[in-house]
Amino acid sequence: MCLYNTGYLVTQKSVPLRSNLYMMTMEPIRMVDLKSQYLRIKSEVDAAIRCVLDSTAFIQGEAVSDFEQHLSQYVDSKYVVSCGNGTDALTAALLALGIGPGDEVVTVPFTFIATVEAIAQVGAKPVLVDVREDSYMMDSDKLEAAITPKTKAVIPVHLYGQCADMEAILDIAKKHNISVVEDACQAISAAYTFSDGHVKQAGTMGDIGCLSFFPSKNLGCYGDGGALMTQDEELSVRLRMICRHGSKERYRHEIVGINSRLDTLQAAILNVKLNHLDAFITARKQAADYYHSALSGMEWIVVPQASPNSTHTYHQFTVTVQNGRRDALRQHLASHNIPTMIYYPVPAHLQPAYASLNYRKGDFPVAERLCSEVLSLPMHTELTEEQLEYICQTIKNFPL
Ligand SMILES: *Cc1c(COP(=O)(O)O)cnc(C)c1O
Repeated sequence: MCLYNTGYLVTQKSVPLRSNLYMMTMEPIRMVDLKSQYLRIKSEVDAAIRCVLDSTAFIQGEAVSDFEQHLSQYVDSKYVVSCGNGTDALTAALLALGIGPGDEVVTVPFTFIATVEAIAQVGAKPVLVDVREDSYMMDSDKLEAAITPKTKAVIPVHLYGQCADMEAILDIAKKHNISVVEDACQAISAAYTFSDGHVKQAGTMGDIGCLSFFPSKNLGCYGDGGALMTQDEELSVRLRMICRHGSKERYRHEIVGINSRLDTLQAAILNVKLNHLDAFITARKQAADYYHSALSGMEWIVVPQASPNSTHTYHQFTVTVQNGRRDALRQHLASHNIPTMIYYPVPAHLQPAYASLNYRKGDFPVAERLCSEVLSLPMHTELTEEQLEYICQTIKNFPL
């Protein structure tokens, strides 16, 4: 019997981490700081890993079902099926819905490639719609025009930590009788409020929601990991079968599946980290608040705007840089030892792998413009006020 604390039986909220905004010596600034975060929770994580090592139940050990239960409570989803990574989650979701050759699935060009890749991997055709100017997520006003008799599903992507325009997307999907698969890989814990006042978390609004536990995600493990969420029992059974070689019972394979499992070691780590997720998100919000107040007045930088009806969990703090100065600003920051990233430099429709979709430059002008203007600033749970001040001051000192 393992002694790690899975937390879901504990009614108390986890204790907030100490305020990390007042450190005296400035550590090197990192885009993501997994090391410092690990050191803060080291004793818990090490104990959880030790426990798995002692059990040697590396596949489908106790921690896996514990984590599924823990996560299902946290996100308030009836069913959770863990899997190998977020990309597999998207693929398994489409397979469970019976989507394949001859079908079309609508998504956005401004996303991590995995969203589009999963559609192509099941043999369906990705159909893209542009994103909104303000939220950078699916423009629901353009969704209906992309739906054809072949359309089987739509995949909204909850980008950077907030939810897409779900109420409109769900309404359109219902009207056309198509499924909704949410790519919630960047948005665990983001909450969406519907116009009647009810609130749901990212990934629990559509037919199936997909999560990634890639190390740098807000809830990251120490390798690859993912999960599927659904409120439909039949779908949950299908998803579990698909991820376990199409089998419910050992060596009896009812459908063609894949092999996609969450390692016991990763599940044990996630069980520990899920207890800290609220505190991690609070730390991200504190950093985002600092960026907002320091950068809001600037003319040539647009800070992220709140998506209507969604909270923001700040997986990324992504600004847009006007006047064609993005790359120059990025270089200026790099020369001051401030790392930044571009999520994403090339939209999906202009990637060589998807040339056969026959899209052209100019087809999705908002996504294309964003690719040349977005800049993600350092964002993690360990940023200090001193570091944030240095980053913002260095941005302000950039000669126009
Ligand atoms: C990270 C991510 C994925 C893929 O997750 P993996 O676990 O790396 O396979 C899919 N979609 C989006 C939007 C992501 O950010």
